[in-house]
Amino acid sequence: MAIDPAKGAEGGDLIDPFGRHVSYLRVSVTDRCDFRCVYCMSEHMTFLPKRDLLTLEELDRLCSAFVDRGVRKLRITGGEPLVRKNILWLFEALSRHLKTGALEELTLTTNGSQLPKYAQALADCGVRRINVSLDTLDPETFRRITRWGDFAGVMQGIEAAEKAGLQVKINAVALKGVNEHEIADLVRFAHGRGADLTLIETMPLGDIDGDRTDQYLPLSIVRARLMDAFTLSDIPYRTGGPARYVEVGETGGRLGFITPMTHNFCESCNRVRLTCTGTLYMCLGQEDAADLRAPLRASADNALLHAAIDEAISRKPKGHDFVIDRRSKRPAVQRHMSVTGG
Ligand code: SAM
Ligand code: SF4
Repeated sequence: MAIDPAKGAEGGDLIDPFGRHVSYLRVSVTDRCDFRCVYCMSEHMTFLPKRDLLTLEELDRLCSAFVDRGVRKLRITGGEPLVRKNILWLFEALSRHLKTGALEELTLTTNGSQLPKYAQALADCGVRRINVSLDTLDPETFRRITRWGDFAGVMQGIEAAEKAGLQVKINAVALKGVNEHEIADLVRFAHGRGADLTLIETMPLGDIDGDRTDQYLPLSIVRARLMDAFTLSDIPYRTGGPARYVEVGETGGRLGFITPMTHNFCESCNRVRLTCTGTLYMCLGQEDAADLRAPLRASADNALLHAAIDEAISRKPKGHDFVIDRRSKRPAVQRHMSVTGG
């Protein structure tokens, strides 16, 4: 069979062994960050040597190879994607796929700290919606969670995003004893600005300084408590991700729940994750991975790369199996969320 270098040995869209269509790629462009959130990193992290990173040109080539294979949505994440040097170059380069219609959405997940500087330029590259992580409205709690973050700077970032016309979604990790009493306020804050809010359970990824059993708060409890303050109605709204949404009667806004720990959402998983060193993870909750850097660098055309992508997709597992309990204190997966990106 002749191999089309643009499409690989198999060609066409990426379908995994369980019939799921892989149409969503998340790309962590750096494992570095200007924050040290307690659930994500230890305070003294060892980061990858810069020489191991793919260049921005290589990231563009890799992402474009996935777009050639039917990926319709690209999310740039990290670490903090906006601390990667010259990151706008990548957004500008990838925006050509929006112009041709090959890509439906180019978006990012950010801690918001660099948005005052980049929001307008991101909008100019065709970014329409962004996820901003914000776990608290209290500057002191913010400092306690992020260790190094500046609350006022993130607020300015959210404002800059809104001013640039970006649709903001707020993501908050529910943390026992830290922000659990503030969730209703976060709902009012987000919905008051016309933003959706998505709540996330902590996942056991990577060693952190603390004990995760102290942080873990099941969203089933959060939801039950919110029902004292709000009327929550299930709605079929989906963003292509694992969140399940309700509409909050009192605010008219949408509230999403991402429950990797209490609810298995793997059946509809349409995504894979690429790290800044070119490693492809077929599941956030499993160690199995494929190296795409070697085939990328081995030749100037993409035939080897597409063959490696096909082989990787054929290994996409059915699902993950996270546990946080007091006996198994070790993380389910050794790598940090900042490596694979959220
Ligand atoms: N730095 C950016 C940010 O914070 O939005 C992007 C990367 S961060 C790893 C992506 C998302 O993962 C954030 O919303 C963060 O709260 C979440 N996250 C990090 N570690 C997590 C964990 N162990 N469990 C659940 N969510 C986590
Ligand atoms: Fe940085 Fe995001 Fe991890 Fe916080 S959650 S340490 S902002 S990568």
